[in-house]
This record gives sequence, structure tokens and C-alpha cells, in this order.
Amino acid sequence: MPDVADAVVIGAGVMGASIALELQRAGRSVVVVDKGDAVGGGSTSSSSAVVRFNFSTLAGVVAAWESKHRWEAWAEHLGHVAGPLARFHRSPMVLLESPDFGRREATALLTEVGVPHELLDEDGLAARFPAMDTRRFFPPRRPDDPHFGDAPRGRLDAILIEDGGFIDDPQLAAGNLMDAARHHGADVRLRAKVVGLEVGSSRERRVSGIRLADGSTVEAPVVVNAAGPWSGALDHMAGVTGDMAVTTRPLRQEVHVVEAPAGFTHGDGGAMIADLDLGFYSRPHPGGTLLVGGVESDCDPLEWVDDPDAISPTPTVACFQAQVWRAARRLPDLAIPLRPTGLAGAYDVTPDWMPVYDRTSLDGFYVAIGTSGNQFKNAPLVGEVIRELVDACESGHDHDAEPVRIRCRHTGHDLDLGAFSRLRAHSPTTGTVLG
Ligand SMILES: Cc1cc2nc3c(=O)[nH]c(=O)nc-3n(C[C@H](O)[C@H](O)[C@H](O)COP(=O)(O)OP(=O)(O)OC[C@H]3O[C@@H](n4cnc5c(N)ncnc54)[C@H](O)[C@@H]3O)c2cc1C
Repeated sequence: MPDVADAVVIGAGVMGASIALELQRAGRSVVVVDKGDAVGGGSTSSSSAVVRFNFSTLAGVVAAWESKHRWEAWAEHLGHVAGPLARFHRSPMVLLESPDFGRREATALLTEVGVPHELLDEDGLAARFPAMDTRRFFPPRRPDDPHFGDAPRGRLDAILIEDGGFIDDPQLAAGNLMDAARHHGADVRLRAKVVGLEVGSSRERRVSGIRLADGSTVEAPVVVNAAGPWSGALDHMAGVTGDMAVTTRPLRQEVHVVEAPAGFTHGDGGAMIADLDLGFYSRPHPGGTLLVGGVESDCDPLEWVDDPDAISPTPTVACFQAQVWRAARRLPDLAIPLRPTGLAGAYDVTPDWMPVYDRTSLDGFYVAIGTSGNQFKNAPLVGEVIRELVDACESGHDHDAEPVRIRCRHTGHDLDLGAFSRLRAHSPTTGTVLG
């Protein structure tokens, strides 16, 4: 008996789970395959899961704002609950500007989308966040730079967005989506590695299924690549990189976990910080800790990797010091642990740090890739994005010529999926994880 489905989703991360749920509940039979042994065990498990809305493109802001409403109504979004749920925790987001930050453009997009925000100067910042040193330290420096400890000078400005937040358990969020997908009938197969794609023998090049490492195959007219940092290998297998103007490349990233200083814990004076002045981000976590990561400052080397399976999961002293020492300049009461504590993960990055949610040159083969360290937050919407793309393209619509648009049901905005095209000219973005 051939193993047959209407769609195969490669990857059981948060993206694959969301896509499986939306395809399956729209009536397609879905098989999800993942080479790992747990749902959400890839990039998703190391996500800081920050939900923020400052992106450099209209589509970026619209997608994040719509998704936040879906996280807030998580049980309703899932439609089926089987066990504990991941939770959205509201936490203010404060963006500390670098001198060259494009405030006018950033706030214009927030205003257009209707994201409430407020501008704060140094005095406003100090009044709102007394635990912060609100002076300017720019430019970001490495701890071994002789000027690392230079006295701050100049004026700091910030954008405050009260409606930001984070998901307390990103892997559980993927599990929630997958449980809902299973409830509707999706077949989830772990320890199932895709080693090849089946392509039909007719003259039109069209995917017809996948081949697994154990030699078995699953036939399907639709295959979605949601393989996170490993997705590039699958694109090569499918032979679809030729027309992709937007390429992807895996990047190793560390996130450090430290004790939050008094007066800056979650729910007690704490906020999520994107600090372009010093060069780090942080977010408080329930229980009194703080996650600290990087924002690709010019002085920080980027750790590109060829094989995401080969990365060391252990945080390094050099990265720990760069990120945590900067955080300690902003939060002077932060106690620096003696040795690095935290984790390392990888995500696949595009040149403009915006994702690719698109069809490909191989009919039936779709991608949800290039999530660039900033798309966990959009996962609840991405399932619908791919479902709409699949529905349109499989009915003969030419998405490349006339991009599909979707109506965001919570916020009423139209989202032009052309913004996530593999053929796009690079969007004018920050060129960092901020997108
Ligand atoms: C350190 C870090 C911090 C982050 N912080 C944030 C944040 O604060 N906010 C935010 O919005 N985003 C953040 N992100 C990004 C976000 O977490 C990712 O974009 C998102 O989790 C990607 O999900 P995914 O499902 O695409 O990939 P993954 O979770 O990596 O899932 C892909 C799956 O594909 C499977 N797979 C790969 N190859 C194959 C194959 N050949 N056959 C079968 N299965 C295969 C893998 O086993 C894996 O389980 C962060 C990411 C990292 C690493």
C-alpha cells in the first residue's frame, strides 16, 4: 500500500506545527515528518520567544501585530486543547535607539498599523525604569576594547511599546499547535529524516512526495519545507535555489540566562530591552531571571555554520561577556555570574533578515524558511499564510505575478504575501535580528 497524503510538512518546529494545523483543519490530509525525536526540538526550543512589533517593513509590523492577538487568544486559536498551554505574558518593550536609528520610519509604521507606542527621552526613561542607567554608551564595543568602560555621554532616546510580551515556553507552543493538528487528523512522524524529494515524471516539474532515510516514501502533491536552519539542504535537494533572489544561511546564536536585578523582574519594573546603543537585547522571565542575547552589532562576529547539527550547544565566555557585560552597564545592579549560563541555537538568516513564505520553481513545493531569529512570534499566522498560498497556487493562481493577500481577522489589516517572496528585492531593513 503506498503511503499517501494531500500534503507533507517537513519539520515539526513551531512553523511546521502551525502549517500542519491550518492545512489539516482546512481539509487536507497531512503527514508531518521530523528527523528529531520531539516536536519543537529544533530552533524553536532555544527561542527567546519575544513578541514585539518594531519591524522595518509594513508586512513585518502587520504580521507581528496580528500574531500577538492570536497568542493572547491561544486556546481559541488552537480550537483544541489537550494539556498545559504555553502562555503569552505581557511585558513592555523598550527600544533604546542608536544615534542613526530611523525613528521617523519606525514610528510611522507603528502608527499606520495602530500599535500604541510612546517616545521617551532620558528623563522619561529614568522615571519609568529606575533600575536602568539611561545614559548613552554608543557605540557597542567588545569587552576587550580598551574603551569598553568609557564614561557614557550624550542623550538617549527610546520607543516604548507597552503591548509587547513573550511566550513562556516556545517548545510547548509548538506542541500545542501539533496536538491540535493531530486532533484534526494530522499524522506526525518523528525520527523520520527526509533524504530526497520525489518529482513526477510528467513534463511539468512537480513534486510528488518525499523519501525518508529508512527507504520509505510518502506520496503527496504538496510538500512544505519548514525545516528551520536545515531548510537550505532541502531546497538544494529540490533544485529550487536557482530562481531564489533571497538565500538563507544558518547562524549560531547564544542566549544567556542571568538573575534579573531587583526592581527589574517580570511584573516588577522589568521590561524587554532592545538596546541598539550598547548592543544587546534582554527579556525578563517569570521566576526572576533575565534572558540576554545579541543584536548583531558591527563589532560582534557572526558565527555562520554549514551544518546546524554540528554547532556547540554550550555558551562561550567571549559571547557571554560581550552580551552580559553590556546588559550590566544598562542595569548596574545586575550580578554577573562567574561562568557562562545559557544556551546556543541556530536559525536560518536571509540577507534582509525577513523570512521567505512562498511557492518555489518546483510546483507543489512550498517554503516557510529564513525565519532570521525573529519569526517565532509570527508562527500562529504563518500556518494560515501557507494554507492560503497552497490553496491559491494549487488552483492555478500565479502568485509570483500577482501576490496573494490575506485579511488579518483580529486587526483587519491586509497582508501582502509578496513581501515574503523568494523573488523580492531585498527589503530595506535593519540587516539585523530586528528585521
Ligand atoms: C537563540 C534563538 C533566539 C530566538 N529568539 C526569538 C525571539 O525572541 N522572537 C522570535 O520571534 N523568534 C526568535 N527566534 C527565532 C524562532 O525561534 C525561529 O524562527 C523559529 O523557532 C523557527 O521555527 P521552525 O519551525 O522554522 O524551525 P525549527 O524549530 O528548527 O524546526 C525545524 C525542524 O525541521 C526538522 N528537520 C530539519 N531537516 C529535516 C529533514 N531533512 N527531515 C526531517 N526533519 C527535518 C528539524 O529536526 C526541526 O525540528 C530565535 C531563535 C533562536 C535560535
